Amino acid sequence: MPEPQPILTARRPQVPKVSPLPNIERHKFEDYLARPITRKFLALLTRRNGAGRCYLEEVFERYDRPDLSLWERLKSAVPHRAIELFRTRAGVNKEVLKEKALHHRPTARALVNTARSIAKYGLTVPQRFSAPLIVVWDYTQACNLSCRHCYQEAARKPLADELTTEQKFDLVDQMGYEYVPFLAMAGGEPLVSKDI
Ligand code: SF4
Repeated sequence: MPEPQPILTARRPQVPKVSPLPNIERHKFEDYLARPITRKFLALLTRRNGAGRCYLEEVFERYDRPDLSLWERLKSAVPHRAIELFRTRAGVNKEVLKEKALHHRPTARALVNTARSIAKYGLTVPQRFSAPLIVVWDYTQACNLSCRHCYQEAARKPLADELTTEQKFDLVDQMGYEYVPFLAMAGGEPLVSKDI
């Protein structure tokens, strides 16, 4: 029997045609991001460790945390110094940076996803990502209403080949693993599903 394919990979939509960002349109920072050495560095920062997490994610989590051990502080000292330099130069308030970005889980995940994507594909137009920044999940075909304008012809009963609960958990795990930052539940009506 053939190996089962991960759902996220098997059903990933076609990637649109992309081209490298033309030099003429680049901002200085984009220039810096597009360099091969920067891409290698981003690949290093976003490489997964044994626990399936990456260093960049940990750097964000550890930013400005007074409860860290000395060892944890040392492990992130250099990138934290770099973040502080960028932050002060850009005139961004530390609390704002923390709450709206580095400690805001979806935003931090989006940043990691973006860094991984630039490492993998470089800067492209449109930007090609290694995983989607948002997934809109048509959770079920079933709905308790029957609107005439329904965009997906929802019905009272779910489709026979909808994912099992186990497959749904697996899909969520895969999205988590790939740093998908946002998930929107659509349908049908997700709340009529027994497993939700
Ligand atoms: S899925 Fe939305 S549009 Fe379709 S029948 Fe249900 S509520 Fe109406």
